[in-house]
Amino acid sequence: MVGPLLVLILLPWLFVAFVKPVVLYVDRVPFAPRGCPGMGFVFVFIQKDYKGQEHLLKHELRHLRQQAVVSPWLFLVLYFGAILWGHWFQGKSLSEAYQTCWFERDAERAAGKA
Ligand SMILES: [Zn+2]
Repeated sequence: MVGPLLVLILLPWLFVAFVKPVVLYVDRVPFAPRGCPGMGFVFVFIQKDYKGQEHLLKHELRHLRQQAVVSPWLFLVLYFGAILWGHWFQGKSLSEAYQTCWFERDAERAAGKA
């Protein structure tokens, strides 16, 4: 069936594009390594200990704007593709590839760190 698939693809995209961002303060950020302070995917997840950290919030909100442009699912492909590209083809460690990929640099710029 095409219908449910279309809804699954379109709803998150419409949500990040047109609905005010929802920020959830959680004990542990889902689908992320332990200790990860925040994540922006369709919703913004911020670990409770980091509540009030404006830079982190702005960083994660920027990831939602990125998803509003390319859609959350394509964002995932491009985001992890960029990290793997840096790791496999530019000789960076995974950590360095993550920190220097375009999406992270853009989020850091938007959050106010050069
Ligand atoms: Zn980020």
